[in-house]
Amino acid sequence: MPILLAIETSCDETAAAVLRGFEGVLAHEIFSQAEIHSHFGGVVPEVASRNHLVSAPVIIDSAMEKAGLRIQDLDAIAATTGPGLASSLLVGAAAAKGLCIGAGKPFLAINHIEGHLLSPFFGHETIPPHTALVVSGGHTLLLDVEGFGRYRLLGRTLDDAAGEAFDKVAKLFGLGYPGGIEIDRMARSGNPARFEFPRGMIDSGDLDFSFSGLKTAVRTFLEKHGTPAVVDLPDICASFQAAVIDVLISKLFKAARQNSRRVISLSGGVSANSSLRSRSIERAAGEGLEIHFPPQGLLTDNALMIAFAAAHHLAASSSLSPLRSDSVKKMLSELKKHLFPIYDSLLTDFLETCFNQFAVA
Ligand code: ADP
Ligand code: MG
Repeated sequence: MPILLAIETSCDETAAAVLRGFEGVLAHEIFSQAEIHSHFGGVVPEVASRNHLVSAPVIIDSAMEKAGLRIQDLDAIAATTGPGLASSLLVGAAAAKGLCIGAGKPFLAINHIEGHLLSPFFGHETIPPHTALVVSGGHTLLLDVEGFGRYRLLGRTLDDAAGEAFDKVAKLFGLGYPGGIEIDRMARSGNPARFEFPRGMIDSGDLDFSFSGLKTAVRTFLEKHGTPAVVDLPDICASFQAAVIDVLISKLFKAARQNSRRVISLSGGVSANSSLRSRSIERAAGEGLEIHFPPQGLLTDNALMIAFAAAHHLAASSSLSPLRSDSVKKMLSELKKHLFPIYDSLLTDFLETCFNQFAVA
């Protein structure tokens, strides 16, 4: 069975995982920068990429050590190449490509959303036909999935992602970052029916979403009523959360119905939300649908879901050639073209370090 190393640096998590086949987890390492960015109330791209530069070699080393393998034992190396923060993605991709060139291994470029999308089926060799809701800090998408590699976009957010709405509203409430977990916790003891917040586009007739109106409604509410008293916060959080979840659930089940799918999945950081989970599980049971969530540890950004997607790509491709060293030159000139001089030298050094440190060819 093929063994893969995957690297994920699309946002503020530096992660590396080693996977054998579709289910053999040999390593699953994550360093979250959440604490660093919490001081700014959100992710600062430049801070993120600089921290990836420091953490990536440590995390990759640690993953390989946990797996008890050397780079030459791998069949291929994968990295998230988009979507995400450009300067952060470059770090993981540069590290993976440096390793591939050094060790003469094939490189697999993986789409971050596909990583989330397939994560509810982690371990499965076959991806069943289903309707998928990907809800994270950066994305809110509904997709019809025929099987691996056969995806059709049904709807998406026209403005903020659901997780982004959670984070922005949490900031308005004076809660910490990332805000989704904080709101979820507060909402558990709150009354979701106490305040009426708008369910954006719930009757739009299509499968798109909009969450920026909800965020504005919360801001207006706070301007009118002042900073919420501590006693009211659970009810406000529960009411806001219910507004987000009502729309997500309504459109997910509508999409499944329209496409005659009997299986649905939820993935991405927001799928960790306790109310979204319990309500969608209950509704799926009521409608006789099979429902899948990512296993614990694969909800928010991680490299194992990238490795799993890569394993499917590897299985689907008849042959992959090793990355050649002349791509280094191309990559360096790409880096120079696209990045500020400061990144340019930092990344060049970093790439060389990866290349020299792990080169075995
Ligand atoms: P991205 O891939 O876009 O970076 P992730 O998949 O890592 O996002 O998910 C992070 C998002 O998930 C954040 O917006 C965070 O607030 C949200 N989130 C995490 N846990 C919960 C929760 N329990 N309830 C609601 N949102 C959550
Ligand atoms: Mg993500």
